[in-house]
Amino acid sequence: MAYVGRFAPSPTGPLHFGSLVAALASWMDARQAGGRWLLRMEDLDSPRVIPGAADAILRQLESMGLAWDGPVVYQSARLERYRDALGKLQGQVYPCGCTRKELEDSALAIDGSRIYPGTCRSGLAPGKTARAVRLRTGAEPIRFSDRVQGEMRQSVEREIGDFVLLRADGVFAYQLAVVVDDAAQGVTDVVRGADLLDSTARQILLQRLLGAATPRYLHVPVATSAAGEKLSKQTRAADAGPGEIAAALEFLGMNAPAGLPPGELLPWAVRAWEPTRIPRTRALAAPA
Ligand code: GLU
Repeated sequence: MAYVGRFAPSPTGPLHFGSLVAALASWMDARQAGGRWLLRMEDLDSPRVIPGAADAILRQLESMGLAWDGPVVYQSARLERYRDALGKLQGQVYPCGCTRKELEDSALAIDGSRIYPGTCRSGLAPGKTARAVRLRTGAEPIRFSDRVQGEMRQSVEREIGDFVLLRADGVFAYQLAVVVDDAAQGVTDVVRGADLLDSTARQILLQRLLGAATPRYLHVPVATSAAGEKLSKQTRAADAGPGEIAAALEFLGMNAPAGLPPGELLPWAVRAWEPTRIPRTRALAAPA
């Protein structure tokens, strides 16, 4: 099947070093395969979207020479698709009336993450009103093979719990939108940061329920500060630009030959891209 990759930033700020790494890895993988590379703005979470950030991201990608194929897709223009998908899942979803406070009090905390205990699975308790919509998950483990991180398995029911598809504030959840759009855009290869490794089983579960194909996955390490903290918009590089490409390549285990003219860097990178060189870890310090 012809390769289709994508980069799907959330316009909550300009690209920083970590998102540049994800964009570059995904772009190189697509270009080396002779495939298409699509760009999708994940702008559903309106409370977190920063006005102007989507355009800033487009300009950053252009300035770095990371050219995408076709029109940019904006999730905010595709609400009908997510509603349809939710409709297809009737019987597998249920309304949840738990408030944030109730969730905090009832969640089983395992390894610091909160697991929904299924409070509203068999119906809303008297006096409760529907707030969010959740998917009824199963204990059967989901397995997949990540091109960098290796063999993965997760029981969504035990390790995550029934997760939200439509939030209490009326926003469609990332997990649903990403699956609907990857399927609609014919994405064959997802290359992104390892902070989303734990979301992958949820997405595969939704793909199966919606009759969508499962793409190949490659999760690159998340860039951290030297102290091991995830890079945020506050720390390194609010604005990643062309000057950071060499460092991003180094982060991915690639060392560009010395003396390469700047215009030769990306063509070299497409030829030299080799995922087996990527450190097999979920997080890694960005070069100083
Ligand atoms: N929009 C998500 C983010 O910026 C990435 C989604 C994805 O690549 O699946 O974290």
